[in-house]
Amino acid sequence: MREILRVERLGKNHGGYRGETIDIRAILRDLETTARQHGWAGESFGRQGEFSLFALHRKPELRSQNAEVRIYLSTGIHGDEPAGPLAALRLLQENRWPADAELWLCPCLNPVGFVLNRRENADGKDLNRDYRNPQTAETLAHIAWLERQPRFDLYLCLHEDWESHGFYLYEQNPDSQPSLAETIIAAVKAICPIDLSETIEDRPANGGVIRPNLDPRTRPQWAEAFYLIMNQARLGYTLEAPSDFALPIRVNALVAAVNAALARFNRP
Ligand SMILES: [Zn+2]
Repeated sequence: MREILRVERLGKNHGGYRGETIDIRAILRDLETTARQHGWAGESFGRQGEFSLFALHRKPELRSQNAEVRIYLSTGIHGDEPAGPLAALRLLQENRWPADAELWLCPCLNPVGFVLNRRENADGKDLNRDYRNPQTAETLAHIAWLERQPRFDLYLCLHEDWESHGFYLYEQNPDSQPSLAETIIAAVKAICPIDLSETIEDRPANGGVIRPNLDPRTRPQWAEAFYLIMNQARLGYTLEAPSDFALPIRVNALVAAVNAALARFNRP
């Protein structure tokens, strides 16, 4: 019998994430196996405790006249946000990528965080605040890897928020390219409520979209997304699933969001 998921807040997240946890070792094994089956190459770029930090890379299936697009995805930088690595695994299993896209995927940037079920690494450092003047071994290794990659046309960083009332996203689009935000929100709306608050994380929001109107150079600490927009991409989204909902809903929401963003690059 199929379990019927109630699409409503569970009310569990008092003072932090209190929902389901995942067996990150098993998920990383599945990720590597599935990636290999579908022709991705894996590259280890560092270590974190017992874990290898790794990136996956897939060349375009088609060599078309169209210019290739280069897309970067990452997740698992916060160890109390299990929907991200699960969404990465699902996307690999479904294997529906734009045929002429070159893809990079960092499926878990903080595996020890998942063992501890906490946002930070083993030393209590939030890796997603360490991209301006990096101090942690994990971020230094990740940036060294990023510096060896080409520029990306799009980045997607998959996260969760334990406090939010629904899904929302941050857009960084300094050149005013055609936005993917409304397309992503429309796709997720069918699966999961959107956080329609006018203020989310102290920033003005509109229909689940935050467009941070700030220059990263004025910020003392950089998230991965700030590093990417300053160095490697001119369009990107941080996707935030609401972790007070059931885990499968959040995974479905992130997968739908990624697929909606990638649909732009599905050429006939
Ligand atoms: Zn996060």
